[in-house]
Amino acid sequence: MVDVSDAESPPDFDPVEPNAGEEFDPVDVFPDSTEFDLRPGSDSCYKCSTCDTNCPVAEVDDDFPGPKFQGPEQWRLKQNEDDYRVDDSVMDCSNCMRCDNACPSGVPLSQMHNTARGEYVAEEMSKTSVEYWRNRVLANYRTSAWLASKVPSVANFAMNFGPARWLMEKTMGITAEYEFPGFAAETFRDWWAREGAAAGSRERAREARERRGEDVDADKRVAYFHGCYSNYNTPEVGKAMVRVFEQFGYEVVVPEQGCSGTPMFANGMLPDARRHAEVNVSSMSDLVDQGYDAIASCTSCSMALRQEYPELFDIEGIEDVAAHTFESVEYLRIHEDLRGEIAEADVDGDLAAEFAYHAPCHARNQGLERQSVELFRDLDGVGIEDVGDSCSGISGTYGWKEEKHEKSMEIGEEMFEHMEAAEGTTGMTECPTCAMQMEHGTGYEIRHPLELLEAALVD
Ligand code: SF4
Ligand code: SF4
Repeated sequence: MVDVSDAESPPDFDPVEPNAGEEFDPVDVFPDSTEFDLRPGSDSCYKCSTCDTNCPVAEVDDDFPGPKFQGPEQWRLKQNEDDYRVDDSVMDCSNCMRCDNACPSGVPLSQMHNTARGEYVAEEMSKTSVEYWRNRVLANYRTSAWLASKVPSVANFAMNFGPARWLMEKTMGITAEYEFPGFAAETFRDWWAREGAAAGSRERAREARERRGEDVDADKRVAYFHGCYSNYNTPEVGKAMVRVFEQFGYEVVVPEQGCSGTPMFANGMLPDARRHAEVNVSSMSDLVDQGYDAIASCTSCSMALRQEYPELFDIEGIEDVAAHTFESVEYLRIHEDLRGEIAEADVDGDLAAEFAYHAPCHARNQGLERQSVELFRDLDGVGIEDVGDSCSGISGTYGWKEEKHEKSMEIGEEMFEHMEAAEGTTGMTECPTCAMQMEHGTGYEIRHPLELLEAALVD
């Protein structure tokens, strides 16, 4: 049972509308089996190569055979050769998932890649290799971040200490090019506990509903999936999420949670991802049963809960959680007159800026690539420009790998150029690692849309 013990028992409620009527329909590529068997999915491919021409890695890496090979072709080979081994090039896919979006035939490419990568790591990759342990460390960022959060100032110094970074690059293959993200002096969860957690939120939400002239007993409740980065590195994003939702009269709970699994999928660490998914699904499905919807501020986290979990794991409650998971601004767009309130608002101070907005690939996969630009173009005091549909290139852990960093920057080049051509020198995106790449490539400060919503709408 989820611990929301600091809240009173939730009131009786009617079931919450699942969403705007567009129910998520996960791809079922292994319908009769819990074994990984992707052969049925490969039959839908008619070899048009659209996925290959949309793959950012294939564009910069001549040795990467592209998504068509990684997906349907490889699984056809598997079908025909009993002793076929997954090709090691599957480790070069960054899991940006752009091929999913590009395929006109609905071939479940990223599901195939994730499954093949999991099989490659489990069966082919040496568990004593430096690459395996480097990938494991990168994929389990939550563990390092948890440790660092105990002594944030020491960690911040050590992780950006030149000789230490040089050593990490030479021995582990973690690039020294990026500045290591700073750890917050206080995590989001510690701040949340100080704010009275669920009980405090309930009170503030009721006051907001009263102020807004709404039914004070209205059933407006969300469970926040903050992910690792908002908890350990950018708690200001989590705080903005809470304040904005409470302003609209929503009671927020912050259940027990692990990593979304996104960096684990990208590195073929499926048992690690499953362990975290079990915690997340268990927490969230309990709350979904009680009438809550799950809200994420990171588009890769919402993508994992909505699509990758049901595609890869068979865990009780997983379909319900997927159907009740939303990206935070998307949720407000569906349930509130967000555009109307934005049109009445204005912003001053340091967020009164011209923003160069980048839509993360995982936001595109959820159909969210235009929402920030469409929302904020009506907001007084700010300007916002979409910098195009290219990939930022970092794809979570991909750009952190020493042997891939240069390719990652090459992929990001178009985005950097468009950012520099846009008005202003502040960037905006929903994804924390895209933000890292944007900052690294341009030197701009990068903000999250929730921070701008907070500045515009919260009293
Ligand atoms: S997920 Fe991205 S990098 Fe991987 S094959 Fe598809 S488009 Fe290419
Ligand atoms: S885009 Fe789809 S149908 Fe075309 S080659 Fe790629 S997987 Fe096959």
